[in-house]
Amino acid sequence: MDVSLQFLGAAHCVTGSKYLLTLDDQATRHQVLVDCGLFQGLKELRLRNREPLPLTAAAVELVILTHAHIDHSGYLPKLVRDGFRGRILCTEATADLLSIMLLDSAKLQEEEAAFANKKGYSKHHPAEPLYTQIDVEHMLPLVESVAYDAPVTLLNGLLTLTFRDAGHILGSAIVELAVQGAQQRKQLVFSGDLGRYDNPVLFDPTPIAQADVLLVESTYGDRDARVEDPEAELAGVVNEALDRGGVLVIAAFAVGRTQTLLYYLKKLLAEGRVPQVPVYVDSPMGIRVSDLYPRHPTAHRLGHGNMFDFPGMRFVTEAQESKGLNAKTGPAIIISSSGMCTGGRIVHHLFNRLPRPQDTLLLVGYQAEGTRGRRLQNGETTVKMFGELVPVRCQVRHLDGFSAHADRSELLRWLGQFQAPPKHTFIVHGEPAPAEALAQTLRQEQGWLNVVVPDYLEVKMLFESI
Ligand SMILES: [Zn+2]
Ligand SMILES: [Zn+2]
Repeated sequence: MDVSLQFLGAAHCVTGSKYLLTLDDQATRHQVLVDCGLFQGLKELRLRNREPLPLTAAAVELVILTHAHIDHSGYLPKLVRDGFRGRILCTEATADLLSIMLLDSAKLQEEEAAFANKKGYSKHHPAEPLYTQIDVEHMLPLVESVAYDAPVTLLNGLLTLTFRDAGHILGSAIVELAVQGAQQRKQLVFSGDLGRYDNPVLFDPTPIAQADVLLVESTYGDRDARVEDPEAELAGVVNEALDRGGVLVIAAFAVGRTQTLLYYLKKLLAEGRVPQVPVYVDSPMGIRVSDLYPRHPTAHRLGHGNMFDFPGMRFVTEAQESKGLNAKTGPAIIISSSGMCTGGRIVHHLFNRLPRPQDTLLLVGYQAEGTRGRRLQNGETTVKMFGELVPVRCQVRHLDGFSAHADRSELLRWLGQFQAPPKHTFIVHGEPAPAEALAQTLRQEQGWLNVVVPDYLEVKMLFESI
């Protein structure tokens, strides 16, 4: 059997994760996709979502997902729209997250297309969503969930899949694939996105000891993002904001970040390190995702029960109540999304709060170039919202210690657990500089010989006649 791999995304960039694994027996060819993500961010990357994939969707037998983030799962409904009818395998929590996140993604696609058509951006070519909520409904029945650490035999024994906890978001996994040739068995490991060590909510990334082929992410391949004490930093910002007598608005991703913040706020309140003020979670997706944690007690460290509830905390579900928060002037905390201030309910809070000197905006985590969050982080004094120039007179703070990605030292710690260098190592899911930096470190400091940063659409023959 011949085994090859094609890099259909996350090559020299962090989005669009898709790896096409082809097992060629003389008689038959099997095609498997590991991850099926959307390209996001810069326009030149997003346009790739509209280009046809170099495959026949109906011929792909399996899709294996590392986790539910849109840059790893968001192309699935399009693949189904194009004819894919195979099995989609992921962990139990990922399956639950998928329906929430992909329906939201489809709704966003539909709204963007409708907006473009209304504005007449593309008069001659009406804008079309990449997929719709109906495509997602067609896709969801194909999803099968698999427990962590439980090997599953696929393709009549040619492939064995095992998910290992990656500690990145709820349900995230490292994918181990054992390929059974006529004479040899080979082990392929896809790191997916790796989480951090000693996170209070999620487990450490599972150590992996052996691989013939390794794909490892490199988001922070060139820098350490460890903050001494994220809890104390958060307490500092909260106290400073509340001392001003105003409202603290926290922009946080709905998946993962919102729950980590709630965990810390609950702890800080219980320990009396921040004052008792009303806390509003104004993020419909954040609320639905928080509800998933008790349903998956083995996928995180918090166990059973209402882990995010505390006195004074309120989940805001109704749009009316969300708008009502605009009238609040006294000390309060509002957690809302999107995390980079590009859409969602956070936008009306910003419109309302940015001009108020007594209020504070806290940005949590990475703010991508071109986003409103990045402009605010950079200290711009006006931002455009709802067609108006809004003056920024509130305090703007930024905390970086809550990243969901392993930093450079943590990547090396995880990589250091391999007993021997893999035969092939591919550095993926990183901008060119961090990917190359990690490759150099592995070559020079660890003595790993075959380390490659693959190109977009590159095909690699991994094994011949095994
Ligand atoms: Zn991710
Ligand atoms: Zn990712």
